[in-house]
Amino acid sequence: MTEELTKMVAEARPYAERGKVADYIPALQKSNASDLSVSIFNVNGHDYHAGDYLKKFTLQSISKVIALALVLMDSGPEKVFAKVGMEPTGDSFNSIAKLETMKPSKPLNPMINAGALTVTEMIKGNSSTEKWTRLIEFTAKLTNDETVTYNASVAQSEFDTAFLNRSLCYFLKQHGIITGDVEELMDLYTKQCAIEMNCSELARIGAVFAMDGCDPLTGKQTIPKDIARICKTYMVTCGMYNASGEFAMKVGIPAKSGVSGGIMGAVPNRCGIGIFGPALDHKGNSIAGLKLLEMMSNRYGFSIF
Ligand code: GLU
Repeated sequence: MTEELTKMVAEARPYAERGKVADYIPALQKSNASDLSVSIFNVNGHDYHAGDYLKKFTLQSISKVIALALVLMDSGPEKVFAKVGMEPTGDSFNSIAKLETMKPSKPLNPMINAGALTVTEMIKGNSSTEKWTRLIEFTAKLTNDETVTYNASVAQSEFDTAFLNRSLCYFLKQHGIITGDVEELMDLYTKQCAIEMNCSELARIGAVFAMDGCDPLTGKQTIPKDIARICKTYMVTCGMYNASGEFAMKVGIPAKSGVSGGIMGAVPNRCGIGIFGPALDHKGNSIAGLKLLEMMSNRYGFSIF
C-alpha cells in the first residue's frame, strides 16, 4: 500500500501548481505550495504514509470538528442546535450574507466560521484559559499525544488580521447567539485554529471518527457514538466548504478541510486519513489533496454511497 500511495502522491502533486496557498492569514503564506503528504490509519492499527507525513501544519477549520465534538459532549445536542443549524450554506466559509437574510439570525451550521465561533464560545470553562486547556487536552486524547499544542505565531497572525471573524462575532452578539467578550473569543478561536499536528496524528483522529468515536488502539469510547455520528454527518454535508456536494460525488466520505491545506477523512469502520497539501483551489480546499483523495477512493472503494 505504501508504494501505491507514493505513486498516487507523485501523480497528484502537479495539481498543486493550479492552486494558491492561503494568504489572508499572513503566516500561512510561508507554506510550500508543492508539499503533498498523506497518512492512512487503519482501524486494525496499521498505518501507511507517503510524502513528508511528519511535517506539522495547523488544523484551521479541521479544528471545528474537534470543538464541536467537545461542546456536544459538554452541553448535549439540544443546546447546540438551539444556536446553530443543520444546513449547508452554498456560501464561502466566512460569509456574513445568510446571517442577515435568515430568520432567526443563527448560523446555518457549525462548519462555517459563524457557526464555529458560536460553538467555540460554548466550550465549558470558567475562563478562556480553562476552555483552552479543556480543548487541547481533548485533542491530545484524540491523537494519543500529550505534547500536542498550537503554533503561536500562526495564532497571533490570525488574531492580528481577523477583522471579518470579528464582524461575524459582533453580528452574532447583536442577535444574542454570542454573549461574551469578542476579543477573548477571538483569542481562543485563533489558538484553536492554530492547533498543530502532522498527517499521521490527523489520520488517527479520523480513525476515531471512522470507529464511531471509539479509539481503535485503546478500545476506549473517546466520543459517544451519537455525537461522532452528528460530527460525521456535518462533515458529509458541509465539511468541504461549498464543494461538499461535488466531494460527496467524487470521493464520498465524511471529511473536513482547512485553509492550511489539511484534510481529515473518516472511512467508516476502515480507516482515518490525514492529508496536507497547502495549495488551495478557489473554494479553499487543498487542490492536490482533493485529487489524491479521489484517486484513493477509486482505488480502494472508499465511497459510503
Ligand atoms: N482560521 C480560519 C478562519 O477562521 C479557518 C478557516 C478555514 O480553515 O476554513 O478564517
